[in-house]
Amino acid sequence: MNVRVVVLSLLLICAAQAQEAAPPRADAIFIHGNIYTGVVDKAAFNAIKRAQAVAVRGDRIQAVGENAEILKLKGPNTQVIELGGKFVMAGFNDAHAHLSEGGFQALHVNLVGTRSLDEFRERIRANVASAAPGAWILGGGWDENLWPVKTVPTRWDVDEVSAGHPVFLERVDGHIAVANTRALQLASITIASRDPKGGKIDRDANGQPTGILRETARQAITDAIPPPTHDERRAAMERALAEAARWGVTSVQDNSGDWDDFHVLEEIEKDGKLTARIGEWLPFNDSVAQLETKRKAHSASDPMLRTGMLKGFMDGSLGSHTAALIEPYADDPKNSGLPRYDAPKLNEMTKERVLAGFQVGLHAIGDKGAQMALDAFADAERAAKEKKVKAANGGEDYRLRIEHAQVVTPLQVVKFRDLKVIASMQPCHLLSDMKWAQARLGEKRAAHSYAWTEFLKRGVTLAFGTDYPVESISPFRGLYAATTRKSEDGKQEYFPEQKISMDQAIAAYTSGSAFAAFDEKQKGLVVPGMFADLVVLDRDVTAVVPQKLLETHVLRTVVGGKTVYEAK
Ligand SMILES: [Zn+2]
Repeated sequence: MNVRVVVLSLLLICAAQAQEAAPPRADAIFIHGNIYTGVVDKAAFNAIKRAQAVAVRGDRIQAVGENAEILKLKGPNTQVIELGGKFVMAGFNDAHAHLSEGGFQALHVNLVGTRSLDEFRERIRANVASAAPGAWILGGGWDENLWPVKTVPTRWDVDEVSAGHPVFLERVDGHIAVANTRALQLASITIASRDPKGGKIDRDANGQPTGILRETARQAITDAIPPPTHDERRAAMERALAEAARWGVTSVQDNSGDWDDFHVLEEIEKDGKLTARIGEWLPFNDSVAQLETKRKAHSASDPMLRTGMLKGFMDGSLGSHTAALIEPYADDPKNSGLPRYDAPKLNEMTKERVLAGFQVGLHAIGDKGAQMALDAFADAERAAKEKKVKAANGGEDYRLRIEHAQVVTPLQVVKFRDLKVIASMQPCHLLSDMKWAQARLGEKRAAHSYAWTEFLKRGVTLAFGTDYPVESISPFRGLYAATTRKSEDGKQEYFPEQKISMDQAIAAYTSGSAFAAFDEKQKGLVVPGMFADLVVLDRDVTAVVPQKLLETHVLRTVVGGKTVYEAK
């Protein structure tokens, strides 16, 4: 091409651009809303800027503003969605969930809250009716203490409603289960079976197993249950995704745990059915070579699905007295929990993985667990800075995370800030834990547990999630817990000085979670250029009395400009 032709074509391009001075038309316009943008207005005492309308083009937000202004972007093919004054905000980004587990749980028999043996049996019968031939019927949550006759169920009670399916149902505490006759047969549990070490097979007067299996006696049954088929895995994932969409969750930082689940997600994406953006965590304990293979398996720039941080475990849980504490449990003075690593090994593994460019998030519930993670992070960050290793987004902050961070010392909070460690927390846990947390910790330590105010005051980034299915994936329970520190009935309050404002709680659940996954330029605010991930609610969560928060319903969930859920 000669110079003259180049100049000529440049002129033509310029002319074409001049003609297109009017902005391109929107694909969709959301109008007459009460839109909470998430943007802090410094000129208005840090209030959050509101808008009336949003224009969407492709999968991004094109413009945000007043109705008249946004309507100018309407073209002949623009879809107009009337919001009728409803509250709109950026979609929720759940920073910690287990979708596969949640989906399986939802497909299983849920016996939580059954009020009688009849009701227990009715729920099993309903599940059996829709099960594939011969499939195992699994589930649990029963508690005979809630029944008029407080005796545990037997295999004969279950046999009558199981139509030949093997059935295995955990008690609510997860230590006892009931199996039906078919399940006992498949696990070869007979009159001749001996109790395993640490377990018990309940028997009737004739020595026949009754179906009740305690502790390690349950293992024979779990060993006999085949691993889920591909179709079951997919059904579970789709169920969990539907649950996320129903609750306005547009991004999930997911720890499904099995690489097969990632393949299922890829398949769902290919079929155009992925309704939330997923960052799938990888196991910290995998070798670096395995991790690199998994990282390479899917494009890191796919806006809907990619692999995310490495998840490791420092300790257990507070409820079971296995969270690692610096001082012993207040209600168990000889026990300070169970750390799962020794420090040199943990430090070495963390460093190796951070140097390989992985983000690391360590589950730590007790302050000893947090200390182990912080020490490992300090070491790894130092090494990474020296070697000029880039983080996942090409930057130099590695955004190492502590998952849960339920019990911390004030000094550790300072350490979080200095190392720029993210506190990835699930405020909804407090609703369940407040009944016994202070007994476990004693007052002094409890005052620094679930320490949201302390973290924010020190400038630590909070990322909120639910730990679904340990808790429901509903973000509204989390918003309620974070802003009230009260039980769901409002009767108990837990160290209210640690409660945060609704604006802060929403930020932790949107822009904070986005930051924790290196997505803060794409997600978390309703501003032009970000993904059009929006949620329409039936009430303004910043303006209702706390108790009404728990009744919030999602009217519409939008991911990349497309509606993925709409309330009937
Ligand atoms: Zn978890």
